[in-house]
Amino acid sequence: MQDQTQAGPDALSTYFFQIADAAQTQTSDPSYALFSIIRQVMAAATQVLDSVAGTCQSPVPECASGCSFCCHSRIHVMPLEAIVICSYVHKYFSPGEMQSLKTRIRSNLTYTRGRSLVQRVAVKDKTPCVFLDHHACSIYGQRPFICRTWNSLSRQDCETAFISGNQNAEIPCLSAPNYVYTLARDVVQSVCETMHLETGRFELVSAMDRCLGMKDAPSAWTGGCTVFGRSGGESLEDTEKKGEKGGM
Ligand code: SF4
Repeated sequence: MQDQTQAGPDALSTYFFQIADAAQTQTSDPSYALFSIIRQVMAAATQVLDSVAGTCQSPVPECASGCSFCCHSRIHVMPLEAIVICSYVHKYFSPGEMQSLKTRIRSNLTYTRGRSLVQRVAVKDKTPCVFLDHHACSIYGQRPFICRTWNSLSRQDCETAFISGNQNAEIPCLSAPNYVYTLARDVVQSVCETMHLETGRFELVSAMDRCLGMKDAPSAWTGGCTVFGRSGGESLEDTEKKGEKGGM
């Protein structure tokens, strides 16, 4: 691997595109290729950041298991991220865990659907991320790019901002994770656009509602269908009302 720690944005993007190209040529299965692309680009971004951390004396974030203030924020994902998570929960969540997840999705949407940001902030303690389980991320290895960008040099500042409801609070943080993971995410998004797949940014809860409400969202999306942005369509609630299993 070339040393990417000194690379500018163009060189870093080019590097991530090379990783994506290489991942794509490793298989003729387009679905598998997409999963491989996002995983390998994420891994490359993590490797770049580890290299940076090993070459400079930057402070260490105070983020740790059990601290979950940032997991009460609104999370946006691109379709491929939602599809990866959907495939993961279908494969690894037990029936009980899946049922709990669906309950959390419905509860979250009850509080947030159609509400303004101010209204949502007022109920943020009731609307943690649907994947937060006892203050830990239940999909940690599959968490979206946005969750990887967040870090904090002051747990106390996060707590103060959370309690006060100040969504504009300045939390001291390292800029490198935001910079590197955002570039990596943009490269993956660009690859999806090149493949004429649905792209965009969608709220994680709504995206999961849509995915789990369909029989086989991963196949539909990788087959070129519009899954997340279509108007109408089935939600988790619609599917369960009909007594279907929503792809379980
Ligand atoms: S996906 Fe995981 S890390 Fe991201 S907000 Fe949800 S619980 Fe937190």
